[in-house]
Amino acid sequence: MLSVEEARGRILSFFSVLPAEEKPLLDCLGQVLAEDLVAPFDVPPLANSAMDGYAVRARDVASATRSPVTLPVSATIAAGSLPEGPLRPGTAVRIMTGAPVPQGADTVVPFEDTDEPDRRNAGRPLTEVAIRSVPEKGANIRPAGEDIRKDATVLRRGTVMRPGEIGVAASLGRAHMKVIPRPVVAIISTGDELLGPGEPYQESKIYNSNAYSVAAAVQKYGGVPWVIGIARDTIESLSAALDEALAPPSLKGRGPGSGSRPPAADMVVTSAGVSKGDYDVVKDVLSQRGKVALWSVRMRPAKPLAFGTLDAPGGRKVPHLGLPGNPVSAMVAFEQFGRPAIHLMMGRKPMPKPTVQAVLEDAIVNHDGRRVYARVSVYKDAAGQYRAKTTGNQSSGALTSVALANGLAICPDDVARLGPGETATVEMLDWPEEVF
Ligand code: AMP
Ligand code: MG
Repeated sequence: MLSVEEARGRILSFFSVLPAEEKPLLDCLGQVLAEDLVAPFDVPPLANSAMDGYAVRARDVASATRSPVTLPVSATIAAGSLPEGPLRPGTAVRIMTGAPVPQGADTVVPFEDTDEPDRRNAGRPLTEVAIRSVPEKGANIRPAGEDIRKDATVLRRGTVMRPGEIGVAASLGRAHMKVIPRPVVAIISTGDELLGPGEPYQESKIYNSNAYSVAAAVQKYGGVPWVIGIARDTIESLSAALDEALAPPSLKGRGPGSGSRPPAADMVVTSAGVSKGDYDVVKDVLSQRGKVALWSVRMRPAKPLAFGTLDAPGGRKVPHLGLPGNPVSAMVAFEQFGRPAIHLMMGRKPMPKPTVQAVLEDAIVNHDGRRVYARVSVYKDAAGQYRAKTTGNQSSGALTSVALANGLAICPDDVARLGPGETATVEMLDWPEEVF
């Protein structure tokens, strides 16, 4: 039996970072930057006003400490337009926030420190203005290049694009950036007992939940889920599903696609058919199409796991993760093995799940020396202590235990039982917004 870490290490050794692609700016959110962003110009390009007010020379209004200084107003400059010429000494230019400051002006006096509001109320013309306060020289002027200097490297390759980085790229006029794209994960459910969503209920069957819980996890962790559908427990049916995942017809609308790359899976995830009895069909097909190994992993749930590569057209070898069929097992195994694979392909640094130490309210029993991942709901008590309560039936078929949980409490391989009041490490599924 492999430990979780051994299994994860072997799996990840088959993945590599996807080739970079140009993406529209908003598609870059959460993606790793694959180029340095160097500023082609200053931002802002010109010194500009930080307030609506009057651009003046500080020395022309220096006596406003004693009594207001009245200056003729020679022009108004709106944001987006250029001054007609330099400021003539002894005059003021009306200026809007963001508008370039005319040469010669060294200070902007905000409207509220002038008599403009009174003039407006009285219906008097704005051909002159009384300045009532003396601002410091340079006040309310944002210098050119205040934010970004021309030729500066503003964002470095390897940066994860968050809203701030997206905004910075936009402020340099970029519509596209080179990033590591989202991996396309093809998802195939196997089983004669499965019904697709929307199909009429049948007592002898169960609805395919794995494809959807796994697809949602793929999406949550940054990949593009591609639900291929249900393959029956026959060679033909599973072969056809794999054909679709590995070499989909390049018809428009088929598969999610991904920028300039063909709409082919970067990874294939199957569920079920990896436990001893019914493994044969899946194993036969997978070993015809590539290499596959069936593993036992020292964990509960999700002991049986298949992993290998599939031969795709063009000589590509596509990693294949074969999850167990039980709905909780499929999800827990995906958390441990699928999530880091997606992050690796996206060029993200390894991101272990965030953990907390929580006092257990219920026992976690370990029958057979496997690491137990118990579904728990973690909360903070009045004293600020994290507490973890198991979420009902811990059977690997009871998917509601995952829906009610926000974490997986760990009972180590070599610990037979953690009792109420004992502390356990909990890998948080949702963090941190939902635990406070
Ligand atoms: P198997 O690995 O085929 O032995 O399946 C293990 C258990 O998981 C069985 O009870 C299956 O009915 C169930 N199962 C398999 N595939 C799915 C699926 N896609 N959604 C929900 N349950 C499933
Ligand atoms: Mg089955």
